[in-house]
Amino acid sequence: MRQPLVAGNWKMNGSQSSIAELMDGLKAGLSGVSGVDVAVCPSAVYLDRVGSMLNGSSINLGAQTVSEYESGAYTGENSVAMLKELDCRYVIVGHSERRSLFGETDAQVVAKYQAVRDAGLTPILCVGETLEEREQGRAQEVIASQVGAVLDALGADALNEAVVAYEPVWAIGTGKTATPDQAQEVHAQIRAQVAQSDAVIAEQLLILYGGSVNAGNAETLFSMADIDGGLVGGASLKVEDFVTICRAAT
Ligand code: 13P
Repeated sequence: MRQPLVAGNWKMNGSQSSIAELMDGLKAGLSGVSGVDVAVCPSAVYLDRVGSMLNGSSINLGAQTVSEYESGAYTGENSVAMLKELDCRYVIVGHSERRSLFGETDAQVVAKYQAVRDAGLTPILCVGETLEEREQGRAQEVIASQVGAVLDALGADALNEAVVAYEPVWAIGTGKTATPDQAQEVHAQIRAQVAQSDAVIAEQLLILYGGSVNAGNAETLFSMADIDGGLVGGASLKVEDFVTICRAAT
């Protein structure tokens, strides 16, 4: 059985005071909740602070992105070694906002993914189609090529104990959620694609859904056979909503 994961992607939100309040609420709200792994992914600026707040709780720390380079003259970037030192367990790789707003290519995504794996951290590989691609009937092809970029370059082993997040771009921050059936179809497709290389790894692979997950829709989404939890944006900034979403995965 796959243990579900719910990860909160805070994106570029929060302040020292709002984060302290959020963390107090989450620690209280999630204490005693079992059967789900929970992670929060603050801005890199707050990783150290949030990591200290997580001491003694079962909530894990994740980063929103990472440099593909080891160290050196890469102004503004953070290395996996730095994230590891701060006790990050997860790193989101290839989020659609990184791909579309910051021009991250599949090749870069693969390099970042590999850097995360090499450091022994768990990548959360984001894939998903735009509205235009879905309307053109190309969703399946786009997602297969994003997953394929990692599989082809690194082999199925690279997905061993990793996490994939299906985030349809049209559902991110829009309040429009993929229907449970729509999401399930894509999740099953991703698992089948990985199974072509390695059936055991495919069976163990966590595939999260992301895109306007909220306290009201989480339970139905997470009840689908191949949906193993969620990658949550907006609703992860609200204590009550995020706690409800985490509980919905148990
Ligand atoms: P929302 O939950 O705000 O739609 O964001 C989803 C997302 O991009 C998580 O990575």
